[in-house]
This record gives sequence, C-alpha cells and structure tokens, in this order.
Amino acid sequence: MLEIDHIGIAVNSLSTSIPLFEKLLNSQCYKMEKIDSENVTTAFFKTGETKLELLESSTDDGIIAKYIAKKGEGIHHIAFEVADIFVEMERLKGEGFTLLSEQPKVGADNKLVCFLHPKDSNSVLIEICQTQNQPPSP
Ligand code: ZN
Repeated sequence: MLEIDHIGIAVNSLSTSIPLFEKLLNSQCYKMEKIDSENVTTAFFKTGETKLELLESSTDDGIIAKYIAKKGEGIHHIAFEVADIFVEMERLKGEGFTLLSEQPKVGADNKLVCFLHPKDSNSVLIEICQTQNQPPSP
C-alpha cells in the first residue's frame, strides 16, 4: 500500500498563495525550496500525516508555467512515499505504467523522485518519492 506524502498544487504566485494557505490551514508554511533542475520554487505546509506542496515556476517557460498556461492553477500531482524507489519503478513499469524518467531525480526535501505519465492514471500526474538519509554525492 502506498501512502500519500504530499499533494502538489500549481500556483502563479507563492507570495499570494502562501498567505492564502496559511489562512486556510491555520498553520505556517514551514519550508521553501528552489529546485533549479525543475525551474520551480516550492513551499510546504504540514497537513497531518501528509503535506501540501505549492509550486511556482521560477522561469517563464518552466514546467509549472507551461502547466498553468494549459490547465490553469490547481492540483498538479499526488506524491506517494515508497521505501525503495528503484524497486517501485520496476514494479510500476511491470504493471504497465509509463515512467517519465528512466532514473529517479533529486526533488524537493532531498527526496529521490520519479513521475508517472498521467495517461495511465486517469489524467492524474503521480509522483513516487523516497526519502534519502544522506545528501547525494556531487
Ligand atoms: Zn511533489
């Protein structure tokens, strides 16, 4: 069974959406992180066992900017925590899911992440992620 680690929400502006979600959740954003490889800035909120991840594009042509241009702001992906991302990638590939990268990438929170094509999951973009204990060697 996979457990939800976080839900990713694409937003135009973190400076607008962080105060909005702080009001909504009645809790503070506890972390912001810029992920240069994905041209995205993230802001995290704790919501019980799971988290919300707000995503703002850091460039005009980043993944999130393109997503919002096409679909508007809103829920972008659902992320599931896995114990071993390599094992889970093989399992999901075997089940017929399309992986968007052959190898995991380093995402927010220093997690290894891999995305699955939404065409295989009712148009929902799925992320699987594995917590790393050590930062990756450069
Ligand atoms: Zn995510």
